[in-house]
Amino acid sequence: MVSENGVADELALDVLRQEIAACRICRDAPLGGANGRLPHEPRPVAVISSRARILIAGQAPGLKVHETGIPFNDASGDRLREWLRVDRETFYDRDRFAIVPMGFCFPGYDAKGGDLPPRRECAPHWRRRVISAMPQTELVLAVGQYAQAWHLGAERRENMTETVRAWQAMLSRPNSPGILPLPHPSWRNTGWIKRNPWFEAELLPVLRERVAALLG
Ligand code: SF4
Repeated sequence: MVSENGVADELALDVLRQEIAACRICRDAPLGGANGRLPHEPRPVAVISSRARILIAGQAPGLKVHETGIPFNDASGDRLREWLRVDRETFYDRDRFAIVPMGFCFPGYDAKGGDLPPRRECAPHWRRRVISAMPQTELVLAVGQYAQAWHLGAERRENMTETVRAWQAMLSRPNSPGILPLPHPSWRNTGWIKRNPWFEAELLPVLRERVAALLG
């Protein structure tokens, strides 16, 4: 997929983007059969880039993102942009940020009205191929437990808090790209942020410094 010819790379990525946009696995061939079918029309939302040095590995679109087709176009996105200290124009510049959630489509709600986890079908089908198509990535922001599990594998700690607490080890791992684990920026994690003041005091300044350096 990657060559010295940037035009060829971009064309290959366009093919991949079109294949993902047309994906209907969770409607037509869901794991678990008909009972596992996505209850609405799939709408994959991802930003795949041949140039971005920063990859935001998120969880799955919420309803507002599903309706607009724009990733992190919600309160979680506002908080994430504040963490990164970037404006919307920069955030949505695909030469600067790739945005690839663990599940590309809104998974629907659970019985309590919370978002369901990312669809199990998505990462095994698409993720390796998408990540391989972006070898220029220098920093992965692993947002939430699902992205941390996939990107960190055995390096992940026993839970999300301990994984994020070990951020310095993750960031300085010898294999490129560096991975910075983050909690999901959802309002549901406001209590977590208050209980873990080191996150805002120690991690966020380094995050902002790294992002600013990579954005040039
Ligand atoms: S969640 Fe992923 S696998 Fe499922 S329909 Fe959407 S793009 Fe396809």
